[in-house]
Amino acid sequence: MNILVINCGSSSLKYQLIDSETENVLAKGLCERIGIDGALTHQPAGKDKIKSTPAMPNHKVAIQLVIDQLTDAENGVVKSLDEISAVGHRVVHGGEKFTSSCVITDDVIKEIEACNVFAPLHNPAALIGINACKELMPGLPMVAVFDTAFHQTMPPKAYLYAIPHEYYEKYGVRRYGFHGTSHQYVAGKAAQMLGKAPEDLKLIICHLGNGASVSAVNGGKCVDTSMGLTPLEGLVMGTRSGDLDPAILEFIAEKENLSLSEVMDVLNKKSGVMGLSGVSSDFRDVKAAAEAGNETAAHALEVHRYRVAKYIGAYAAAMNGVDAIAFTAGLGENDDESRAVIAEYLGYLGAYIDPERNDVHGEDAIISTDDSKVTLLCVPTNEELMIARDTAALVK
Ligand code: ADP
Repeated sequence: MNILVINCGSSSLKYQLIDSETENVLAKGLCERIGIDGALTHQPAGKDKIKSTPAMPNHKVAIQLVIDQLTDAENGVVKSLDEISAVGHRVVHGGEKFTSSCVITDDVIKEIEACNVFAPLHNPAALIGINACKELMPGLPMVAVFDTAFHQTMPPKAYLYAIPHEYYEKYGVRRYGFHGTSHQYVAGKAAQMLGKAPEDLKLIICHLGNGASVSAVNGGKCVDTSMGLTPLEGLVMGTRSGDLDPAILEFIAEKENLSLSEVMDVLNKKSGVMGLSGVSSDFRDVKAAAEAGNETAAHALEVHRYRVAKYIGAYAAAMNGVDAIAFTAGLGENDDESRAVIAEYLGYLGAYIDPERNDVHGEDAIISTDDSKVTLLCVPTNEELMIARDTAALVK
């Protein structure tokens, strides 16, 4: 069956049409600048990208344009909407309510709304997409796939913060974790590549993109992850600080005469390798600057890689061992140098990278030596495929 996968942001929308039997992508694309002017990129499989700039005043218009592209006589990939069996939506925050993907009903929509407080930028956008699809494709089954769901197996010792317990009870302040769809996909793929059952493996998944998180997956279940109540905690990211001393917030607010929400803005949008290097949030730019002799840029990369290595160490301890460590997402899949530097910290685990095998970019590969006790892997993530799989399974 053909599944339309929708990933809605506040001003953008990514889509893929996936044949769930063959798992082939029939077409994919991106609507950008929704509510501003509008830009559409549509790519049928095996053909060139088609770019256009139709007016896109809102998400409903954007989704109608996506439907028009998919059913277009020339560049479409299906004859009519009848050839689309279901829609799978990426939803960032499912709170404690959603431990797995689910078919979208009015009650589910209400529950997603209740989680808006934790993801005020992301969840409302997903809901707009869900409601627009409901109007434009009435009766078509829809499924919500949550970034937080895979992490719901974490035990209390991993998800509780050491603050007054009433904040958890009253407001749900706890670690939720994000990128769960990616962590789950990569954990499954890693098990497959190792020829083992997920139940028999201790895995550490490093999702290193602009946003970045690490997870510890024991026996196929997530037992810890680096992002927290929000995606700000954990690793150093493109523009996000990750872990820091909470006292810094008050200190900077006083010194710079900023409100708390202004400090939060700095931590979310002006920190990470962007803030450290002053060069860019894009790791490629920061690398280029470091190679050209910019010492602050070099330090930014060191801080980033060191933090990843520390999390790997923490999660190896949390699971009392690790069988394999997988690198995924933009940087994890492509940046062999970062992988090599991170691996230098892992000798005590008996993990050794093979420089030749590590010369791999965006492909599934084992990158450790044959005698490495811990297998190191490069695994390109595929969140859209995971969403299509869950959607197909739930609407069958
Ligand atoms: P997100 O989905 O979080 O926006 P991605 O997973 O697409 O991010 O990753 C984007 C990041 O990956 C960018 O910061 C980019 O610099 C980095 N990246 C991609 N390719 C490379 C590479 N070859 N070397 C270093 N960094 C890379």
